[in-house]
Amino acid sequence: MTIKAPRGTEDVLPGEIEKWQRIEQTARELFLLYNYREIRTPLFEDTRLFERSIGESTDIVEKEMYTFLDKKGRSLTLRPEGTAPVVRAYLEHKLYAKGGVNKFFYIGSFFRYERPQAGRNRQFYQIGVEAIGSDSPALDAEVINLSLHFLSSLGLKTLHIALNSIGCSACQPLYREKLKQFLNEHIDKLCDDCRRRTESNPLRVLDCKKEGCVSILKNAPSTLDFLCPACKEHFESVKHYLKMLGLNYQIAPNLVRGLDYYTRTTFEVVHSGLGAQNAVAAGGRFDGLVEEFGGESTPAVGFAAGVERIALAMDGEGVKVSDGKQTFTFIALLGKEYLEGGLLLLNELRRSGISAEMDYEGRSLKSQFRVADKLGVKFTIILGQEGATLRDMVKGEQEEVKREEVVSILKREK
Ligand code: ATP
Ligand code: MG
Repeated sequence: MTIKAPRGTEDVLPGEIEKWQRIEQTARELFLLYNYREIRTPLFEDTRLFERSIGESTDIVEKEMYTFLDKKGRSLTLRPEGTAPVVRAYLEHKLYAKGGVNKFFYIGSFFRYERPQAGRNRQFYQIGVEAIGSDSPALDAEVINLSLHFLSSLGLKTLHIALNSIGCSACQPLYREKLKQFLNEHIDKLCDDCRRRTESNPLRVLDCKKEGCVSILKNAPSTLDFLCPACKEHFESVKHYLKMLGLNYQIAPNLVRGLDYYTRTTFEVVHSGLGAQNAVAAGGRFDGLVEEFGGESTPAVGFAAGVERIALAMDGEGVKVSDGKQTFTFIALLGKEYLEGGLLLLNELRRSGISAEMDYEGRSLKSQFRVADKLGVKFTIILGQEGATLRDMVKGEQEEVKREEVVSILKREK
């Protein structure tokens, strides 16, 4: 029996991983510039955390969570998203006590039982930020700006922002009623899930990706026509700041997110080369979530970007990331009896910060050189009884050197 990686999971191999490292390193450097600090939360949480925040009648909670009982019968869930865990940690560790805006970023894997396709996995990686503690529209603009700055720093070009506001607890109920009315008028043409959700959670219908539903939803009433004066003013300011920062956006009048905790601003960063899974990043405001978990009313905004989709978009745009650092030196032995001398030199080189490799198998000099060639090393040290020979692999020249000088010579060459 051959065992393969579970459906919807991926191995990221050397050769591909360098791109991932570049993505993560760019995020770490850039997010710090914006004063966001890293947070790491557990891979699994109390199931209720997600049920209460994402919402009972969302796809994620209804059918996509990896939920299991532990040996003491506690219900745990592999995290399907990053915002609820960050808010939980924020409250659990009283991070609000410092006052002001608390800014976090995270990098890690998330789990949803979805139908795997290009850019859609069951274990996937997200890089996200959350800014907790202000309802200023300038912070929405900052977060949107950061998402674009991040993606364009990775060399992505064909990006655009889809922007919307879905209102707050004051204006959403009226919109929900209007939407429900509209959906009921077209109820026979909606899919089974959407029919059910027309009653339980009509906003979720807007997120349906089935063709039949999408074409009906084109004529659905827009959240934007129902915003209360405060939400309207907020949205106008977000747009103003985005323009001021020179960022283009397209209004997407029914852009909602698949999670119930969102309020006001919602946005997606779309990459035109990605086909069906075209959102590389998505986010918005979640002004009610901290309070929902028992904290003081604390507005917040954030986004999450999908690493697999960023990597696909980079491939699509031909962004090249080098294969990482090559090994600098190879030690070739003239005979098995020099193995210990080789091991000692290998250790010295590595401890001096010079990357080095050797062959432990006692192979012929010819096959050792073949390995050195494959590694693409700059120097090979041939070790025998009489000190060492240093071969410059690029120039094809070699010279006798004293054994005790090998490390200092190579240090100079590095
Ligand atoms: P989609 O509409 O594509 O399903 P979503 O609205 O469910 O995305 P979010 O929960 O907002 O996505 O997550 C933010 C980002 O994480 C997405 O824009 C996408 O890049 C990535 N993402 C989400 N789900 C997956 C998945 N199953 N596989 C790979 N990436 C994903
Ligand atoms: Mg989804």
